[in-house]
Amino acid sequence: MAHVIVLGAGLGGTIMAYELREKLAKEHKVSVVSQGTKYHFVPSNPWVGVGWRDRAAVEVDLVPVLAKRDIGLHSQGAKRLHPTEKRIELNDGTSVNYDYLVIATGPDLAFDEIEGLGPNANTQSVCHVDHALQTKEAVDAIIAEPGPVVVGAVQGASCFGPAYEFAFILDKAFRDAKVRDRVPMTFITSEPYVGHLGLDGVGDTKGLLESELREHHIKWICNARVDKVEPDRIFVSEMAEDGSVKQVHEVPQKFTMMLPAFRGVPAVFGIEGLTNPRGFILADKHQQNPKFPEIFSIGVCVAIPPVGKTPVPVGVPKTGFMIESMVTATTHNIDRLISGKKPNAQGTWNAVCLADFGDSGIAFVAQPQIPPRNVNWSSAGKWVHAAKIGFEKYFLHKIRAGKSETSYERLALHLLGIEKLKAIEVSPDDTN
Ligand SMILES: Cc1cc2nc3c(=O)[nH]c(=O)nc-3n(C[C@H](O)[C@H](O)[C@H](O)COP(=O)(O)OP(=O)(O)OC[C@H]3O[C@@H](n4cnc5c(N)ncnc54)[C@H](O)[C@@H]3O)c2cc1C
Repeated sequence: MAHVIVLGAGLGGTIMAYELREKLAKEHKVSVVSQGTKYHFVPSNPWVGVGWRDRAAVEVDLVPVLAKRDIGLHSQGAKRLHPTEKRIELNDGTSVNYDYLVIATGPDLAFDEIEGLGPNANTQSVCHVDHALQTKEAVDAIIAEPGPVVVGAVQGASCFGPAYEFAFILDKAFRDAKVRDRVPMTFITSEPYVGHLGLDGVGDTKGLLESELREHHIKWICNARVDKVEPDRIFVSEMAEDGSVKQVHEVPQKFTMMLPAFRGVPAVFGIEGLTNPRGFILADKHQQNPKFPEIFSIGVCVAIPPVGKTPVPVGVPKTGFMIESMVTATTHNIDRLISGKKPNAQGTWNAVCLADFGDSGIAFVAQPQIPPRNVNWSSAGKWVHAAKIGFEKYFLHKIRAGKSETSYERLALHLLGIEKLKAIEVSPDDTN
């Protein structure tokens, strides 16, 4: 009997546990170590931030779902991973041991790296549902007393889609409240150009997003390094190609929401051979850690190098479908290890993304997500808003039902030519 633990029950970790439970024989045990018993659908947080969703709409109680699927739950949270002992020390002082571990701990939000950044200082956040609820109060305050608004992503950020989404969603919320004419908006980003998205663009995301920003009267500053945020202004150095400061900006703000840089969570940070200097988990093409081969990782916590050099550091986003492809490859590879074979499955890391703008949006497909690509497509339209709501309902349905993928999802993706696994490698030790 093998015990497989999934550490982290977010977007990647929950479907990882469901998929392992479906694939592995009953004699093997699957458990989850989570921080609390609730799942939150992170992609809905920009809507929570303007009051279009409440907590209950994006939250799922994992206790009955995991019990029904025969998946163990340790909701105390992990204090520290001890990989040489194959042991996770939990926050209440107890420990759990594993034979195989999948790390799915998402990001630690590095607000502390910039003076004045974060929900405990002078800016808002939509990275966690608790932050988004706090943001909603700040949005209400701006509607009551309008003033300048800044949205964007700081140096080292890797998640740009939600920043664009939130700028356009805010614009819609301000238009609905009839205060948009008293809210000057600026988009400040570390990206070298609008629509880079940490991916060197997808299709014409540059043209599409510049046009949307212009049409919505949102000014922008690219190559931006945020130096400091004060309660009424934000200090930004706009960097030149050679890394020198091209221009210094002091942008007035009464409300700012900026995505921070991410790093690995404290429970795994700084473990020699497991993590890179930012605390992201090192993984090979099979999602397996080279030093600790019984450890796999999926999602935002995985170390992926940037797509190229930029004047201001910009990371690569780990998007939902890309994460699901990591999950499917990992399930396959752990199943092989348990049966004494070598891992041979590789996720496609394809990206299929919908960025909602409140009443329209942009969609893109990047196959694979990291360039050069076989498919490099983007499009804008009102249909994206409807599609994003459909995606939210469908994903939450999967989480509540304890399923990682339905047969109609599999069929639809197959018909669209969007696969989760690359061709499986055949090795000499394969006897079946
Ligand atoms: C605001 C926002 C919107 C996004 N929107 C989209 C979108 O529309 N489409 C898209 O494709 N991608 C989107 N993304 C990107 C990505 O899909 C999400 O960030 C996604 O939630 C990442 O999944 P994950 O499992 O890696 O991390 P998470 O979903 O963040 O899950 C990590 C989990 O690990 C837990 N954890 C951390 N430390 C511990 C510990 N010590 N012990 C136990 N548990 C721990 C956390 O509590 C959390 O539950 C968005 C990201 C953000 C921030």
